[in-house]
Amino acid sequence: MKTSFILSAALAIHAAIVAHEPDIESLDRAIGDGDHYSNMKRGSEAIAGMYNELLPLPPDEALQKIGTKLLSTIGGASGALFASFFMGMARYDKEHHPKITDLNTNLETAAAFAYGVQSMMMRGKANVGEKTMLDVLVPVSTTFTTTAAQGKPIADICNAVKSAADKGLEYTRDLVATKGRAAGLGERAIGHLDPGAKSCQVMISTVCDLLLKTK
Ligand code: ADP
Ligand code: MG
Repeated sequence: MKTSFILSAALAIHAAIVAHEPDIESLDRAIGDGDHYSNMKRGSEAIAGMYNELLPLPPDEALQKIGTKLLSTIGGASGALFASFFMGMARYDKEHHPKITDLNTNLETAAAFAYGVQSMMMRGKANVGEKTMLDVLVPVSTTFTTTAAQGKPIADICNAVKSAADKGLEYTRDLVATKGRAAGLGERAIGHLDPGAKSCQVMISTVCDLLLKTK
């Protein structure tokens, strides 16, 4: 994965978050404190605004800077979690492939993504089944790794990943939350999708569509 692709994805993600304002906004109003949409908009806008600064950098440095920026611009629980995700991806390159500066194969990108998800899980001390964005990100990561390891073409990988994200999002509907603000609601959270899971499903589906378009 090249820095130019990461940045095209960032621009597409910002547009997609804005386009999905009504869904994301209403979910965090229902089971959170109502700020998730504005957090995501602010964070994605800040990254889109770093386009020219990040373009000349190798992917690991760009990912590290994205993480740092998200930490300071999103704030709240999700700021630290997304920061850990991007910093985890950046670290993958350094620790596992010291000589490779471009994340250039599907399997390497899947491994970096998995590293990002693991960093987020460690940071938030959470796992699947707790009604969080991990209910989308973990199955997406597993599907990405499995299909990439099978040598599937990128179109098949993207379609499988999008479907895993959709299923993961829907899975959050009937869960009781045990992490984040919704944890205080007990059974009242049942019947609502998790807002973080929704924004992750939107972002993943957007990046997959971009990949499908550029292939
Ligand atoms: P805040 O909870 O600080 O208001 P946001 O509204 O931006 O932050 O984000 C809320 C989302 O963060 C939730 O919908 C959930 O998906 C995610 N979340 C909260 N706690 C955790 C955690 N420990 N691990 C993973 N995701 C979490
Ligand atoms: Mg919130």
